[in-house]
Amino acid sequence: MTRATILVLTWLLTSAGIEAQVGITKYVRFSHAGQTSYGVLDGETINVLDGDLFASPRPTGKTLQLADVRLLPPCDPSKVIAVGLNYKSHLGERPTPEYPGLFSKYPSSLVGHGDDIVTPPDSDNLHYEGELVVVMGKKAKNVSVADAPKYIFGVTAGNDVSERNWQRADLQWFRAKASDTFGPVGPVIAQGLAYGDLMIQTRLNGEVVQKESSKDLLYNIDEIVSYVSRYVTLLPGDLIFTGTPGSTKAMKAGDVVEVEIEGIGILRNKVASAR
Ligand code: MG
Repeated sequence: MTRATILVLTWLLTSAGIEAQVGITKYVRFSHAGQTSYGVLDGETINVLDGDLFASPRPTGKTLQLADVRLLPPCDPSKVIAVGLNYKSHLGERPTPEYPGLFSKYPSSLVGHGDDIVTPPDSDNLHYEGELVVVMGKKAKNVSVADAPKYIFGVTAGNDVSERNWQRADLQWFRAKASDTFGPVGPVIAQGLAYGDLMIQTRLNGEVVQKESSKDLLYNIDEIVSYVSRYVTLLPGDLIFTGTPGSTKAMKAGDVVEVEIEGIGILRNKVASAR
């Protein structure tokens, strides 16, 4: 099938209100019977893979049902990097950044689809930030913008959970951005999506609170990957949160926050209190 045919089919399916899945592979990482594995998701069925997702995993021929496993963050990164202030709609009175503003989250801040976001006991102002997240596929250092797509494995959905009071008060965003459970990601890594124009929607208890396309990113994904790779060596599985659109609100214990991204699916997490 030619690329043009795929594009036409994708357009037809989208026009028909059917989620376009042509040429897209969805990968999951999950726990089942005490074992952590990767798999390819086909509808509600997981085709189980053997080995690491980024090192030519082999199909095992075994299948499992999605409902029978616990989804984990869809990979296990060495680094989790994030871009701040990357949509005009999120800037408010602030000037447009002259370069991508980067900060870190920790791999230990990641949780999967369905896991709780746990509010630390002294947190009073914990916000959601729905974001498109890049998953690196190859070791990348000093990569050009034009070459960046070759190093990207796919994309997933993320919630860059942020404690606004700590973000304002602290010397660095260590607590505000990287506390345990402040990085929900998933449910899948989608490979083959045109990540330059994907609708990102965040819902708080079912109410739409953020909605914007990744085409509005001030620094697009290829530019971000190239920029980050000037400073740190990106490794397979490393994640980059690309920034949140619009405005955000505080969440409270019991709230359910969903980040839905076209072609990826819904990342759903409940807010719980550690108190
Ligand atoms: Mg953010």
